Amino acid sequence: MRVLETCPRRYALQYIGLKEKRSDRTNHRALARRRPAEDHMRRAVSGGIARRLTCLRRGERLSPGDEAGWVADTIRAAFKIGGAAGHHRLDTEPVDDLISRAQHRLRRSREIDILRRIDRDEAAEWLPLERLRPLHTTNESLWTAPDLIVSIDGRWQLIRFAMEAGRSQPAEHQRLELGLVLDWAVREPSLPSDPAAFSVRRIAWRWDRWVDWQRPGSAAWLEESRTLLDADLSILRRAHLGLDGFRNLDSLESATRRRECVTCGFAAVCPVSLVKKVRAG
Ligand code: SF4
Repeated sequence: MRVLETCPRRYALQYIGLKEKRSDRTNHRALARRRPAEDHMRRAVSGGIARRLTCLRRGERLSPGDEAGWVADTIRAAFKIGGAAGHHRLDTEPVDDLISRAQHRLRRSREIDILRRIDRDEAAEWLPLERLRPLHTTNESLWTAPDLIVSIDGRWQLIRFAMEAGRSQPAEHQRLELGLVLDWAVREPSLPSDPAAFSVRRIAWRWDRWVDWQRPGSAAWLEESRTLLDADLSILRRAHLGLDGFRNLDSLESATRRRECVTCGFAAVCPVSLVKKVRAG
């Protein structure tokens, strides 16, 4: 949804299959796969936290040295697979710098209160989840699961990790998006059906530390979040039906901030890109 909000043109290229005149089929696919260099770093941190928790579930404790090595291997592998052709910034961004930043974030994640408590065996129950596994409802597949659920001090916590946050407190639309973990939780048969039985928690990397934000769940929050979800789904459905200008790239709005284009794989062929053109391929 964020892509649709920041650049409808990019959304149409990436998810609807419209093509720029300057790109052929193969070239289009390659451009759609492009990712900013920092994505590899952020994914490695998120993967590192998930890996640590999965190992802990099996009763294995990973050392900081093991994690640092895993992060380095993961980022190098990502660059070998898709990174070198992944984005123009990869030519200049030193991979070692990304590895060192990811290792730093992962090391600092050991100080996150809830993860320390899990490590010290203070949580009654806990489970890392695969956020990328969708919840299938009658009409849709929804990616609303938290990254981790923990029962601690008699309350269920639904935790999402954010690998980068612009502010310590989520903005209003982010708060509503976060509230969708309540929707996931109340649909889950093994969990309470009352949203007030949960706390929603976002643990995000901001500047040089992990910032922990949490609020008690409520029926009102869940309702607001569902309303937002319904509105978003309706916009997406219309876009995929080719309505609202989604049949013709040139009738769509494009990014107004350069930083959106910097992270866009189509910058090389997009005639309205706000970054300097580089050779596609
Ligand atoms: S390069 Fe910029 S304007 Fe063009 S599709 Fe990408 S984000 Fe949108």
